[in-house]
Amino acid sequence: MAILWVRHSAGRQENPSWSALFLNDACYGHPSKRNESFEICTQRRTDEACAWSIKRFEIHGSEKWILFVSQSCAAKIRVNAIRTFLGIKALQHRDEIFLQGFGRLFFSTDQKIVPQRYQGEGEKLRCPRCQGFIQPNQYIVRCPACSSIHHQDAENQLTCWTYADVCGACHDQPTHLDGEFSWTPENL
Ligand SMILES: [Zn+2]
Ligand SMILES: [Zn+2]
Repeated sequence: MAILWVRHSAGRQENPSWSALFLNDACYGHPSKRNESFEICTQRRTDEACAWSIKRFEIHGSEKWILFVSQSCAAKIRVNAIRTFLGIKALQHRDEIFLQGFGRLFFSTDQKIVPQRYQGEGEKLRCPRCQGFIQPNQYIVRCPACSSIHHQDAENQLTCWTYADVCGACHDQPTHLDGEFSWTPENL
């Protein structure tokens, strides 16, 4: 899962707010029929060509998101102020995508973190915080940045994920569990 932060009613309101478009597999930018802008949707329309798309790939068990830009609109799109080379760009957390006629978007891999029951068998997976094994059915958190699995089982007093401010494996991902995104483009 990734997020595209989209600013609605771009240019018309004084302080338009950002909203999160959740991407499961892909999203598509279709040229607008009304103006020089784009319409963004998570379904590909079969009757018309899309100008650009963002697609999810799984490479060695980790998620990658790739932006594809059609030749006809290559000049209208920038990622972090740079044109995409050969119309392809692997997106990173917090990348800014500028669409001429539409405005700015932000790509994010941040997620709201919710503990889930561990579905795996006893495959000898160790928690990076306490080094103990992860047992089937224990509540766990999978780090959205590095995919490592931590205990977060309050009943068994194994709150390894929230034990420190950042992930015990990548030391980068914040561990808050308040249902808020840790990053939004709001303050840029
Ligand atoms: Zn643990
Ligand atoms: Zn991590």
